[in-house]
Amino acid sequence: MIYNSHIHTFKESDIPRAFLPIGLVRILATKAGFRVVSKLLNNINPFSDQDTFDRYIRFVEIGRMSSQKDIFERCSKFYPEDTKFAILAMDMAYMGAGKVPRDYKNQLKELAELKITHPQVLPFIHVDPRRPYIMDLLKQSIEEWNFTGVKIYPPLGYFPYDERMYPVYEYCQNNNLPVITHCSPFNPVHFKGTKKNLIKLLSKSQTPIETKGKKRKELCAMFTHPKNWEQVMNDFPDLKISLGHFGSAYYWEEFLDKPGNPDNWFTIIKDMLPKYKNLYSDISFTLNDKRFFPVLKILLGDENINDKILFGSDYYMVQTETTEKNFSIDLRGYLGENNYKLIAESNPKNFFNT
Ligand SMILES: [Zn+2]
Repeated sequence: MIYNSHIHTFKESDIPRAFLPIGLVRILATKAGFRVVSKLLNNINPFSDQDTFDRYIRFVEIGRMSSQKDIFERCSKFYPEDTKFAILAMDMAYMGAGKVPRDYKNQLKELAELKITHPQVLPFIHVDPRRPYIMDLLKQSIEEWNFTGVKIYPPLGYFPYDERMYPVYEYCQNNNLPVITHCSPFNPVHFKGTKKNLIKLLSKSQTPIETKGKKRKELCAMFTHPKNWEQVMNDFPDLKISLGHFGSAYYWEEFLDKPGNPDNWFTIIKDMLPKYKNLYSDISFTLNDKRFFPVLKILLGDENINDKILFGSDYYMVQTETTEKNFSIDLRGYLGENNYKLIAESNPKNFFNT
């Protein structure tokens, strides 16, 4: 049985209004607006598969589908029938990007219903410590709705070692629930509020952060630095944690071009994996770039870490329909059955406690 350890099915109505550029969401929300904009963009560049706007269109196109079930089935059809999927919810209400049209609880409830009709789904509740009564919602998700674990997204404005997260980790450790956290820098989903508020949030850092002259995306990356998890892992040694995206394509690239940077997240994560017995990392998003396949293959030859790497695709954050299929098949073909089974079967089995 195969596992995809990292996908998303949240809808456009779960994304805050001010998140996508220049009211694009609002324009695309109407059928006519959608047709006009997509036609316009297609005319600008017919070969625009990698174009940013083209990606936005696909992003919104999938996000606008009528249900999380539809979005899920568009992904699952490319995998063997008995594949299990970790679906990571998103709570974007506290990132300072405006109002989220749909109540977060309804996003979770919809996942709970999907779990009933599609038991191969492993839903993860995104915990933002700023949401009131988050522990109640977490317990309801696990105990009543049969969720599998917890998703953390620090670039939205909180540190992994935030004391408000401690009851969450304690609950997860006591109940054997895995935690998946976003761990790549500079991505567009980060705190969008005022600079003043951002600096206030960053002031809770345990190591002082110089904010002058730094771009917002650089500053927001500081929340999600892999080393921020060391304290959590020392305090909760039995907690299973997966660092999503293995530090990102940015740091894999840097590792290939000019190795030796002591603050390269790829190297940091690679060195952390054997040190902490319950630490994992997934290759979603990052490994969509085929240039990194050989690096992954080398990692899988290393017995100190090859039982800690998880297969995931990050659907639908990067891929189009065709690339979802190509990604899983190309990677499987390149790695060979033994390596593929390691990251898509035996390692996830350990991580998800199934
Ligand atoms: Zn993701």
